[in-house]
Amino acid sequence: MDSSQMVNNTGTDKYHKPIKDDDKHLNPLYDMKEVPKRTYQLGIAALLIGIGLSFYDAGIGLYVSSFLVACFCFATLMFILLKYNEAIENLPITIIILICGMIISATLFEGLDTDQYLYFFPILIAVPIIVNLKRTRYRESGIYIAIILFSFCVTIVAGRYINHLEHLTAAQISKLVLFNRIVAISSTILFAIAYTFFEEKYIRELMEQSKRVVDSRTRFLATMGHELRTPLNGIIGVINLLKQEHSIAQQDEYIQVLKYCSDHMLQQINNILDFNKIEANKLEIHPVSLNLKQLMQNVSMPFTSLYQEKGIELKTEIGPGLDVIVLVDDLRLIQVFNNLFSNALKFTEKGYVKLKATMKSSSKTAAVVSFSVEDTGIGIAKEDQKQIFEGFWQVYNGNTKTLHGTGLGLNICMRLLKLMNSSLNLTSEKGKGSIFSFDLKLDYVQHKSSSVTNTESEDNLAGTRVLLVEDNQINMMVAKKVLINYKALVSGVFNGKEALDALEKDAAYDVILLDLEMPVMNGYIAIYEIKKMYPQIPVIAFTASVVDQEMLTNLIASGFSDCITKPFQPYQLLSIIKKYIKKAVAVQ
Ligand code: ADP
Repeated sequence: MDSSQMVNNTGTDKYHKPIKDDDKHLNPLYDMKEVPKRTYQLGIAALLIGIGLSFYDAGIGLYVSSFLVACFCFATLMFILLKYNEAIENLPITIIILICGMIISATLFEGLDTDQYLYFFPILIAVPIIVNLKRTRYRESGIYIAIILFSFCVTIVAGRYINHLEHLTAAQISKLVLFNRIVAISSTILFAIAYTFFEEKYIRELMEQSKRVVDSRTRFLATMGHELRTPLNGIIGVINLLKQEHSIAQQDEYIQVLKYCSDHMLQQINNILDFNKIEANKLEIHPVSLNLKQLMQNVSMPFTSLYQEKGIELKTEIGPGLDVIVLVDDLRLIQVFNNLFSNALKFTEKGYVKLKATMKSSSKTAAVVSFSVEDTGIGIAKEDQKQIFEGFWQVYNGNTKTLHGTGLGLNICMRLLKLMNSSLNLTSEKGKGSIFSFDLKLDYVQHKSSSVTNTESEDNLAGTRVLLVEDNQINMMVAKKVLINYKALVSGVFNGKEALDALEKDAAYDVILLDLEMPVMNGYIAIYEIKKMYPQIPVIAFTASVVDQEMLTNLIASGFSDCITKPFQPYQLLSIIKKYIKKAVAVQ
């Protein structure tokens, strides 16, 4: 693989025009109307008419008028160049004021008889062409029209009541009238035709865009349907097999399949939710301090058996100097590696997959660490290397590999890394494997690893009294079983009201797991009552909702200590409960 085949993805579109900050907030319809381009076109049209008029004036002996119009042309050209170099903000208003000023001064020189005021009509017609009515809600166009009408009135009054400065012969007047009438009327007609043409084009693009949205939604739903039905099919099939199977070894194997299918389903759903969060700019990074070496040792663990089954070697190479405590969002970093590992697994049939982490540079306060996942799989053709980072790309382009995945994984990795001020690089060649790599700058918490490792040896909740408030029977059964397996003493109730009744009889609970959406009394009301009467008991929200930082902050503000989302992994429930019972003990 040569380095020329390396693709870098920073999240901001490297392959297309760079997106400026302001542009991001533009309505796409605004772009479709090509309004900024049209303002240039209007400026150039005014310039051409001005040059024509200047020569014509000179040709019929009106040298002062010719000079005046030439000055106007020069000014227009300057403003267009200034706007092009982004030195001025609003070109349309500048051009309109310039043209109006030009007509008023021409009338002051030539009087009303030459029909200069007719040029107000094409400018009036040009207003809707250069203004996006939907974006500005008529304010901008109202201002432009007001300027034009005001200038028109000034022209009429000035032409009628002020003696014109240049002396014109009757022949010159009639030639100018002819010229002005022809140019003004034809440019009015031209602008009207242009307006109709632009609007038609705009409406066509609007319709095409809405068709594209419908098409991509249909394809997206079809893909998601396929992606979710596949593991679901596995789950249903294996459950039926399990019912008939009596051999413990075979049952164990089926349970592994069930776990794989359900984890896969969860990953797909999380990908979609993340993608949504990213689109809404709601994805956040929460760094915590942890030992980098330990994290790297654990990161590939969930994949070990999957790789073994496929006969692919899973190598890990952790360079020296990584046994340090750094600040990093471990969940998001693991998510990136999970995506890279599951792709490597999907697209590699033989050989190996290697996770590599090496120290690139280190200062007193931070380390720059290079991470990579290399595989000896099918590789990615050069022409596909840019697009695979785009969300849903492969699905929507009918790529042959589309039936495995939603095409969201790499896009999410790329965006997560961007939030961590990094970018995802790809070095790949078709048939020869791929390397996905990125560098992360991580702040040190501690240069040398101390005993920050998990000192809590007890992996159970022996003697811990948990009040579980959950209205769904199945979720109740699962959570209860998990907690009982961890030796907790669990009491289950089905809504907030029952929780309050239970607490009234006996408030000696160490922790309360409280669902949010429940009949009779939901979690939001129950927490208020619980905190009023039993402030010492930590309450953990137990919800299937998508919890972002904003929601977590609100939950904590309403009295919850923390939140665990469903579906959960048993160890997550264990560690969150341990965190709070430990705190409660420390406070007492
Ligand atoms: P998906 O969920 O479909 O895997 P990704 O965004 O993770 O979505 O990947 C997009 C596409 O990039 C994949 O469908 C595949 O065509 C290609 N791809 C990703 N990783 C690899 C890899 N390690 N080897 C070969 N192709 C890959």
